[in-house]
Order: sequence, then C-alpha cells, then structure tokens
Amino acid sequence: MAFRCTPPVKDPVASLAYRPWTLAVRPFQVAPGTWYVSGQSWVACYLIDTGAGMILIDTGIAESLYLLVDSIYRLGFKPEDIKKILISHAHFDHCGGARAMKELTGAEIYMSREDWKFMKMCREETLEVDKDSHPQEFSPDRFYSDDKRIELGHISVRSVLTPGHTAGCTSFFWEEENPVNGEKYQIGLHGGVGVNTMTDDYYKASRYLTPALRDRFLADAVWLREIPVDIALPSHPNQIEILDRAGQYTHENQPYLDRAVWAEFVDERVRQVKAVTGQT
Ligand SMILES: [Zn+2]
Repeated sequence: MAFRCTPPVKDPVASLAYRPWTLAVRPFQVAPGTWYVSGQSWVACYLIDTGAGMILIDTGIAESLYLLVDSIYRLGFKPEDIKKILISHAHFDHCGGARAMKELTGAEIYMSREDWKFMKMCREETLEVDKDSHPQEFSPDRFYSDDKRIELGHISVRSVLTPGHTAGCTSFFWEEENPVNGEKYQIGLHGGVGVNTMTDDYYKASRYLTPALRDRFLADAVWLREIPVDIALPSHPNQIEILDRAGQYTHENQPYLDRAVWAEFVDERVRQVKAVTGQT
C-alpha cells in the first residue's frame, strides 16, 4: 500500500459542533498496542496501551468529546486508565477537550513550552479560532523535553519539537512489539503539518507566527524524513489515508506497516509548503 492522502473533510467544525454523528468513526487498531479513538474522521486521537495504563495523544475538539469517550469504552478500556495526555499542538481541534479529559481521567497533560506560550499570548490563533467550537481552558502539567522520553509501562515515547504549523508543534516516535512474531515497529506521528498557518497571508495577519517557522519546518523535514518509521500515523486522517483500512488490523495482517510512507508523507508536506511560497 503506497502513500496516499485524501481530500480534507468539508465544514468539519460546524459538522462536529452540530451534527457530530455525521463524521462519527468507530475506534480501530493501527498497531500492536495503539488504537484510533477520536470517534470522528476529521482529527485523529490515539490511545496507546502501555501495560501500565494508557497514553492518549490529542483530544479532538470539545464538541466531539463524547465520541472519544465512547471509543475508549467500546475498546473495553476506561477513561480512568489514561495516565498521560500528550498534546501535539495548541490548536483547538487537537486540545479543545483536554480539560474535560483531565477531569475525567486524572491524567497529566503534556505540551510544549513553546505552544503553551503561544496559546497564552494568542488565543485567537490557538483555542478561539472557530465560533462553532467552545474549547475548554486548560494548563499543561508538564512540558516536553526532546532529551527526556515519556515513559509508561513498556512504552517509551520520544517527543521531538517540530515547529512550523505552530511555534511548538511536537511529533512523537515510539516502538511497539508484535506479540505474535516478536517484530518491533517504530511508530511515527508528526504533530502538525497544515500549510494553512505557513502562508504569507497568515503571517501578515498573525500576532505570533513568523516566516522563520516555515523555514524551520522545511529545514527539519530534511532529517525528519530520514527517521526510520515502520507505521506512520497522521494527526488528521486526510494527511495519510488510514480510514480505508479501519477494522482490518490483526497482528498477522499489519495493514499499516509500510516503511516508505513516512518519507513520502514528509516529502508531500514539503511540496505543499513550497507550493504556497512559489518555491519548487
Ligand atoms: Zn493545527
């Protein structure tokens, strides 16, 4: 299965705010211990079973929270199993439900220091972007450190600061073992690649983001694409097609195992950024 991406969801915020069931997606497994659990097709959230509690990556928007919680229960887990909530970046579609999930689970919230500052200084570009969504206020309990892994049970997550889409966008890499054949898979999730915040028009209107972030994104892509990733996961399903294989996962089948996808995905996002700047 070669790399493919799909068109963006139309009117996602209004759909999720007023008709969330129209974008509803049942939870599905993507790796030996990881499930797609946002409950909706616009934003991805992932639940990782560490053997000593769960790690949740992103929460989706506040309005689709019930779909996230429903997904967790459908898999046979409980919200209180979640010990750590990792936020990829400070946009409302990834962290709008963070406060409610913290209250429900008692988990610690992680985010980057850079995006915490961005969120505090610039709410209109982070939490309060869309009138149809009503994100909840939250504070992180911990900041990421690229030289300190996030450890829980048998999972060790490497966080990597990957600015561009926001000031402190954070990507995640971790290893999981196939319990059937003992194979080890490196899993990669880029925290944010949307070109919408890397255009000249965006920078003209922004109080916070500057073209230096776009330069950083392009520079980082050179080494990011070289990171060996066996299973590449998107932060929005339109970035890397995964919904097409929902429900097909078995340990023997591994429908998302493809070592070419990560580099192709990074290359595609570089192409999109260069296209808006007139570079080739
Ligand atoms: Zn974003």
